[in-house]
Amino acid sequence: MIQASCHCGAVHMQIETPPETVTDCACSICRRKGALWAYYSPKQVRIAPPSGATFIYMWGDKEIEFHTCKTCGCTTHWAAVDKTLDRMAVNARLMEPQVLARASVRKILGPGLARSFP
Ligand SMILES: [Zn+2]
Repeated sequence: MIQASCHCGAVHMQIETPPETVTDCACSICRRKGALWAYYSPKQVRIAPPSGATFIYMWGDKEIEFHTCKTCGCTTHWAAVDKTLDRMAVNARLMEPQVLARASVRKILGPGLARSFP
């Protein structure tokens, strides 16, 4: 079990396993947020409080809720709007630096950037 929390501590997450891989996504929202996403089943992550401490941003097809702490502004996680989907992501930047250091980083480049991929 590992822990993650926003800067002010209003949002706290307990996660079953440390991430082996985190994703650095260059899509229009992720590159602006600067998040490193660790993907989980919602069953593997306990978020406290379960609601109320974050505001939600959605865009495009509005299939994903991006959660950000209302107090300190850290992006904490995303969740699927359709709660039957077995997928969510925790912002691994909120995990302890030692946990993040052990994960490999997978880069997803945005449209038009594929050729610069090594
Ligand atoms: Zn906070």
